[in-house]
Amino acid sequence: ATPTSIMVGTGKGAEHGILIKGAEHLENAHKLTAIVLDKTGTITKGQPEVTDVIPLGDLPAAELLRLAVSAEKNSEHPLAQAIVDYGKLQGVQPQDPESFTAIPGQGVKVAFAGKTVLVGTRKLMQENNIEFTGLVAQIEQMELQGKTVMLLAVANKLGGLFAVADTVKEHSAQAVAELQAMGIEVWMITGDNSRTAQAIARTVGITNVMAEVLPENKAEKVEYLKSEGKIVAMVGDGINDAPALATADVGFAIGTGTDVAMEAADITLMRGDLTGIVAAIRLSKATMRNIK
Ligand code: ADP
Ligand code: MG
Repeated sequence: ATPTSIMVGTGKGAEHGILIKGAEHLENAHKLTAIVLDKTGTITKGQPEVTDVIPLGDLPAAELLRLAVSAEKNSEHPLAQAIVDYGKLQGVQPQDPESFTAIPGQGVKVAFAGKTVLVGTRKLMQENNIEFTGLVAQIEQMELQGKTVMLLAVANKLGGLFAVADTVKEHSAQAVAELQAMGIEVWMITGDNSRTAQAIARTVGITNVMAEVLPENKAEKVEYLKSEGKIVAMVGDGINDAPALATADVGFAIGTGTDVAMEAADITLMRGDLTGIVAAIRLSKATMRNIK
């Protein structure tokens, strides 16, 4: 494209809250054949809210919540934020843990008065030999509703469950439909479990789902689609998404997300609305037409 048509294109993008970092990105956007959308914070608002608190055994509900809030207060994860916010509403007085470890894609591990508290996925529980088989049906039932379930264990015993639900952004389904109408294959990628992922995917019209992908493996998945000859865009908001954003042919960051994602991306959607991807592709097509 000529410098003038690129300038016009990037200017028009900026008017719509689409910040394009360089000429080549505007030139590449119309070639895309596959788009990978992160789930939390990209397709959804990324502000999950606690929907269920289920104490187990003899642990009182108030104590379960206090342990969870105390364990999660040092985590930056949106799920942790949901628990902390819910605890505040309930007037919980959290306690400072003696140690804190974030386990990316799985949860957190903390210690209070020598007792270990784990909050996170079933995999995290399995790896720590915490028994939860009697609850699988109940957990799956909640996941089928699109909820994310977190398990809490204290001193090697399951203490309870938390479920949180995130809301899909207003324009996500429309953006997916428009991308598909352009002949572009649309994927969802997430660290969340596959039932929750499928439930959210269904509400926005996505059938290609990559779930239970650990943060460090998101870029590999993008690389794999590229190796199949696809021209791939990645769209994400989190620190976890940065390597995949850099690996993609075109990386789109959500402007309401983390700075790390915006730095790794080629194009930022300031409004956080996925229809901005459609607009960027149209702008790219128009820019390229101007020079032919
Ligand atoms: P996503 O791709 O949806 O942002 P992540 O890869 O960050 O998900 O996390 C995957 C899963 O790990 C979450 O759905 C959750 O079950 C669990 N998890 C991650 N961090 C935490 C945390 N701080 N507390 C509890 N569970 C967590
Ligand atoms: Mg995200």
